[in-house]
This record gives sequence, C-alpha cells and structure tokens, in this order.
Amino acid sequence: MSLAGAELMWTPLQSGFPQQQPPSAFERGPFRPQPGEPIAIVQVGGGAIRPLEEVSPELPAWLQADYYNPQKHRQLVVMGRWQGRLLLVHQVPAAEARKQEWPGLRSWLLQSSAEEFDLLVTAAGLAAWEEQHRFCGRCGSKTKPRWDEYAKECPRCHLRHYPRVAPCIITLVWREDALLLARSPRFASGMYSTLAGFIETGESAEQALHREVKEEVGVEVGDLRYLGSQSWPFPHSLMLGYWARYQSGSLRLQEDEIEDARWFAFDDLPQLPPKTSIARHLIDNFLIWRQGR
Ligand SMILES: [Zn+2]
Repeated sequence: MSLAGAELMWTPLQSGFPQQQPPSAFERGPFRPQPGEPIAIVQVGGGAIRPLEEVSPELPAWLQADYYNPQKHRQLVVMGRWQGRLLLVHQVPAAEARKQEWPGLRSWLLQSSAEEFDLLVTAAGLAAWEEQHRFCGRCGSKTKPRWDEYAKECPRCHLRHYPRVAPCIITLVWREDALLLARSPRFASGMYSTLAGFIETGESAEQALHREVKEEVGVEVGDLRYLGSQSWPFPHSLMLGYWARYQSGSLRLQEDEIEDARWFAFDDLPQLPPKTSIARHLIDNFLIWRQGR
C-alpha cells in the first residue's frame, strides 16, 4: 500500500465543520465464531505485528487466513467482521515478537490504507487489553470474556473491564501570519508537529486544550474549532483535533516535554508529520482553508 492510499483516511475539507468521515467497512464486536467458518488472524506482541511469509492476495500482509477451529482458536480475541471473515487477535508475549524482529505497529500504520489502519489500531488495543486485564482490578479473580460487547467480566464480583481509550487533545495553534509548531525530544530529527496532551479526569476537551497549550508553550488561545478525531494506539489514545487561534503571551517552553517550538511562516514550514496522522490533517486543511479565505 502506498501513502496515497493512506490519504483517503481523511475526506478533503470542503466547507464548514466538523469534518465527516465515512463509516468503516469493519464491523466491530466480539461475534461468536462457528466451527469451520472463514477467519483471519493477526498476531500482536509488545507493540509489534507479525509479518506473514505467504500473503493472501485479498488480505493485508499481516492477516493469516484460516478456518475456525475451537480447539486451536478458543483463546484468541474476536475483533469483528471484515470482508466476510471474522478477525481474531492472537496476543503473543513481547519477548517472542522481539526475538523474531517483527516490525513495530508504527511502521505498519505508515503504509496502511484507511481501512487497514482501523483494523491495526483495533487489534493493538484489544491485544493490550487481553494482556493487561487478565485479572480483576477489584478482587483479583481471573476475568472471563463476554460475547455481547468488548468486555471482560469478573466471575466473582461482576466488575467489567473494557479496552482502554484515553482521550487526548491535539491542536494547531495559528495566527494571521504563522503556525505554531513544536518538537518533542522523541520526534524524528528535524520534524515539528502540533501540540497534544491527555485530557485529565473531570476535564472537558476544551479545558484540556487551554491547559496543555499554556503548560507546553506558555500562550493563551481562543476561537477553538473541532476538526475531527483519530484513534492512535500509543498506547491507546483517541486524538480530538482542533484549530486554536493565538490570543496572547510569548513562547515559554515546558522543560522535558518540548525541545523547541516556533512560529513558522506558511511558506516556510519545517518537516511535518506523515500524511496518515491527524496532526498533518490539521495542518494541511488549515493551509487549504486559509487560501480560500
Ligand atoms: Zn472481581
């Protein structure tokens, strides 16, 4: 798959907000498999995905076609239905994935289509859940999967444990002549991106946006516009994307988090995040919108 395919993830900005994404062709849910029915399995371990040696022409290079066999597949997590098959996640120990040098999830995402992106992110989320919620957090009993929703239930105290989703804000701060972009020490060399941070418990997305921008770069913003969202499995974020207009203050960078932040003129932007990311979506659509003003 080329990056051109990945760009389909976002419909181009026409006019108005928020943006609409088409529904996913992937039907989520822990459907009960029938013996002998066609399935496909993805193996996930320690944030890496197993590449297949023999790839089916109709499936991505990480989905192994098979037929459901209760003896063999009972322990796998059912992820949903796609192209007439049930998809199953096989969560394997991280050490095994490391030993076999499986490519990291990030590198698969960079070359995936919009549909494959959905599948990979869901598989990663369910694998992490499978690994981290084997026992009840309240009473310590071994949990059991439910078949009516993605949930593990404690047979003793009946507490349900759901796959984790951590909402985050991500925002492009702009002013009339420039975009505010920043670098984290974790970024690839030379790349600048939008600001982002986790929403704290009890906080609205907009409150988090004001707080994060103030903490990370020391400025005040206003005129927030919601553009859309993207699931991002590092580790289990849901990125809520905004534009925010600069209001006041001068740049003061948060130590450890922000290595550099600057105002960049529209015709002199640095290296930007890949096209598959919501950060890039926020930037590219801003430039389109600004041209049309
Ligand atoms: Zn319990």
